[in-house]
Amino acid sequence: MKYIYFFGNNLADGDAKKIDLLGGKGANLAEMSKLKIPVPPGLTISTDVCNFFIKNKSYPVQFKSQLKASLKQIEAMMGQKFNDPLNPLLVSVRSGAKQSMPGMMETVLNIGLTSKTIPGLIKNFGNEKFVYDSYRRLIMMYADVVMEKSQNYNLSPEKGIRTKLERILEKTKNKRRLTNDSDLNVTELKKLSKDFKIEIKKSFGEDFPDDANTQLWNSIAAVFNSWNGKRALHYRKIENIPDNWGTAVNIQSMVFGNLNFDSATGVAFSRNPSNGNNVFYGEWLQNAQGEDVVAGIRTPNPINSESTSNLNNSLITLEQSMPKIYLELIDIKNKLESHYLDMQDIEFTIQNNKLWILQTRNAKRSGFASIKVALDMMNEKLISEKQALNRIQPKDLTEILHPNVDPKEEKNAIFFTKGLPAGPGGAIGKIVFTPDDAINWKKQGENVILIRNETSPEDVHGMFASDAIVTSKGGMTSHAALVARGWGKCCVVGCSDLIINYTKKTVRIKNKILKEGDVLTVNGNSGNIYLNKVPLISGNIHLNKYFNELMKLCDKFKKLTIRTNVETPDDAIKAKNFGANGIGLCRTEHMFFHPDRIKSMQEMILSQNKKERILALNKLLPYQKNDFYHIFKKMSPFPVTIRLLDPPLHEFLPSSKDQVSLLADNLNVSIQLINDRIETLQELNPMLGHRGCRLGILYPEITTMQIEAISLATIKLHKKNIRCLPEIMIPLVGSLNEFINQKTIIINTINKLQKKYNVPFNYLIGTMIELPRACLIADKIAKEADFFSFGTNDLTQTTYGFSRDDINTFLNYYIDNNIIKKDPFQSLDQNGVGELIKIAVSKAKNVNPKIKLGICGEHGGDPNSISFFNNIKLNYISCSPFRVPIARLSAAKASIK
Ligand code: PEP
Ligand code: MG
Repeated sequence: MKYIYFFGNNLADGDAKKIDLLGGKGANLAEMSKLKIPVPPGLTISTDVCNFFIKNKSYPVQFKSQLKASLKQIEAMMGQKFNDPLNPLLVSVRSGAKQSMPGMMETVLNIGLTSKTIPGLIKNFGNEKFVYDSYRRLIMMYADVVMEKSQNYNLSPEKGIRTKLERILEKTKNKRRLTNDSDLNVTELKKLSKDFKIEIKKSFGEDFPDDANTQLWNSIAAVFNSWNGKRALHYRKIENIPDNWGTAVNIQSMVFGNLNFDSATGVAFSRNPSNGNNVFYGEWLQNAQGEDVVAGIRTPNPINSESTSNLNNSLITLEQSMPKIYLELIDIKNKLESHYLDMQDIEFTIQNNKLWILQTRNAKRSGFASIKVALDMMNEKLISEKQALNRIQPKDLTEILHPNVDPKEEKNAIFFTKGLPAGPGGAIGKIVFTPDDAINWKKQGENVILIRNETSPEDVHGMFASDAIVTSKGGMTSHAALVARGWGKCCVVGCSDLIINYTKKTVRIKNKILKEGDVLTVNGNSGNIYLNKVPLISGNIHLNKYFNELMKLCDKFKKLTIRTNVETPDDAIKAKNFGANGIGLCRTEHMFFHPDRIKSMQEMILSQNKKERILALNKLLPYQKNDFYHIFKKMSPFPVTIRLLDPPLHEFLPSSKDQVSLLADNLNVSIQLINDRIETLQELNPMLGHRGCRLGILYPEITTMQIEAISLATIKLHKKNIRCLPEIMIPLVGSLNEFINQKTIIINTINKLQKKYNVPFNYLIGTMIELPRACLIADKIAKEADFFSFGTNDLTQTTYGFSRDDINTFLNYYIDNNIIKKDPFQSLDQNGVGELIKIAVSKAKNVNPKIKLGICGEHGGDPNSISFFNNIKLNYISCSPFRVPIARLSAAKASIK
């Protein structure tokens, strides 16, 4: 069994195909080595070892001997020896799962520094300061990762060893008013390591190990353990990464960006990760080690003029400072992008003017950048149309459809501060200063903005709960920026004039102090932050060139027609602009709540007999006719499905005493009468009560009025030569007789009006399929129906027996404890509800091959569910206007899968 895969000196045991075993980092290091890109030699321990270790808390037989042999290979290549007093080799131990989980697992650098090896290293490099700088970094990382986190101390970051050691570091710097760690002198660095070790002993009751092999083996175990750390578990849940993948571990010989001022470290993107422009983009720090860039401790320099911003334009670029190395880096970037055919995120280190590449991976990018890069690469003929579609995720579209700060309002907004625009869109929220507060406030229904000096992987849960993230430190590749961009969350980093006081929960700029709960508006596209609330708008994305190009591409491949669920002419236009080819659900009950007709509706409900009811309905008729006329007109020439009245009637009646007496006054009836009627209409379980077609069956005059309105609107449009095709949909049908009852009323009413006005028109009559019984007798109904539309909201409710309105009381527990994987009202339960739909589809097609089949429940906008609807060959899906583009993309992706 092979557990270890070597890489270095243009050779490698593995390659990109072995990503399951080597993880993303290991596979790419092997691949780069084979591409003759300078990577420091190293080895990858496979994910098999991780899974074995997690299960058995020990290593497989032969693993240790394989590791020792492979380490010898690296030593030979480097001309150095691990744990050797004269010529010591130092290594890093880094995690690397199959899918990048930025900062969620652990890394330890500079392993092998001990009192035995330090003198040899000082002699070899002739630089005592560098050796002690590396040593204090090792002690801090090791204490944090190996001695604390891997031992499940579970301390809050404020109480953790890293914070304690950072306080000692800050104190040391403050004594001489130093701003940069690199300004510390040897004496200070030596004292720092001593003080660190004293604090460690005090905190853990045990010494920092002064033995290279102990450091190495404990670090490997700690990285494996970090696969099941709190942060990693949480991140995997959010990103749907399976728990059984495990992480690989990379042990790599160290190269040093902190050796001197001819050394540096940085992160670069082959294209701009925020806007997708095809320009090399990145940040670097002289005389520093990798974590300094990512941790956001110093504001990094831009690598070139294209990477400058207001905050770093006074800092020297890599292109100016080390022009030869910059050109070498560009060559490597080009090589990597054309090899992987995707935008790369590259970590590099320069040691004594020699460039080393430590990592490359497909870059995380904003939603807009994701769309632009995929389409650009397709147009550059680097990838195919299908590959471009596969690269773009529904969440990329969600992100660009996000609200933005209204530019008109922004002109008058009160400016607070500015940072780097790290995550897209705009957000308004109350400020909080800890991740836990972010979660608690969010639970209370508040929008929150999390403000931190910098974020760390410990903060991820709170970052996820926040509407926006703001940091005072760090650059575009800092942790906050990477994580927020990955999620498409609004984020501004590096607002350097913010002074945060975590104890008092305040943030200050000069004399302006804001406290927890104060409101800010964040513009993640520009980096500007404003006091108070600045209104947000949803963007005119359908005017964007890339959006249109993407949608055209989707339409080329998708098989499903995309319709929309709307009940106003304005929303119909919005949806049409987003590409909806018809309305799949117009919930007419939403129209009756409108203030100009609620009175007539209440009058109708309070009617004592049919005659009174018809009088009230006649008052509603013109409103309905007008509604339908405008909706049909705006959606023309596409079909419009009108669903007959569905909800329980008592919902229309007032609930408070004052409202009851006002209504009694308005209708000139007694309060008693209204209260009696409310009581009669009350149901213990209204969701299973007098709703759906049951309403039109008991009160046929309601159906008649609605059909008259639909017919009169259609006739008026026909007379003006405007095309429209009404599809009349009967709700909540569970038996054939229910369907026939309503169908008869519909046909009789239409026949009468067609004759009266002498305007024949086409129409369809169908039903919602939203009860399990309807699925099981679908063949009987299908003989009589022109179309079925699956109402997956009610079908989920009635199949699972979960109340649509009360699932929140137990859903979180169910998901947290793996009783169900996802909220079935969001993502279709394919095994249960899906199976019923399949039965209905097959039975219906058997007897009526031409029947049109669609779905109009919330699942019509959910990518996973859309894939299912595509596979069972429905004709259309219908969703809310803003989800139409997502549905178009998901339908295209499903059909090319
Ligand atoms: C459904 O039940 O899926 C549906 C679309 O109808 P409503 O949500 O209005 O009950
Ligand atoms: Mg329903």
